[in-house]
Amino acid sequence: MKRQEHTVSAFEAIEALITGFATTFKHLFRKPITEQYPEYKRPLPARTRARIILTRDPDGGERCVACYLCSAVCPVSCISMQSAEKEDGRRYAAWFRINFARCIYCGLCEEACPTSAIQLTPEFENCEKDILTLVCEKKDLLVDHQGKDKEYNFYKYAGVATAVGKKGEHIKEERPVNIKTNLP
Ligand code: SF4
Ligand code: SF4
Repeated sequence: MKRQEHTVSAFEAIEALITGFATTFKHLFRKPITEQYPEYKRPLPARTRARIILTRDPDGGERCVACYLCSAVCPVSCISMQSAEKEDGRRYAAWFRINFARCIYCGLCEEACPTSAIQLTPEFENCEKDILTLVCEKKDLLVDHQGKDKEYNFYKYAGVATAVGKKGEHIKEERPVNIKTNLP
């Protein structure tokens, strides 16, 4: 019985060897593919997880409402910020910092973000000799476009205060939820 098992394994090994050599032989006659990086940069899929940006609403406003969710979910604690609020009730990050030296590009911050503000992009060339230059501030992260999510505008749903009324007092606008009433 044991002898038969050995025979089968030997046969499988030979078969694997032949398959391997056949693959090598096949490639001997193929034109080699050499990518001349960095002169040629292969286009990457839009969902590639590399450098992080902070995007804007279609109306040009900052999308980030400084809710701290990305910071809380980040497994390596590389996001920090300070929240602030404008007179019209629009929250924003007074400062926002990402330490790319720690970031593992897992994409959890993007998934947690309720406003599509933080997004990972395919731009992967962000290596630096000086590690401190990998600490990026809001001015380095904030872009002037919507990234992957072109339409979403959080404040169309959340409302803002105007000269006509407070949040939730405009036509077809619901009053903001007091989140403390949602606590168990
Ligand atoms: S991609 Fe991952 S590690 Fe990098 S900032 Fe986002 S949550 Fe943190
Ligand atoms: S980037 Fe998104 S998740 Fe992070 S604080 Fe801003 S709104 Fe919240």
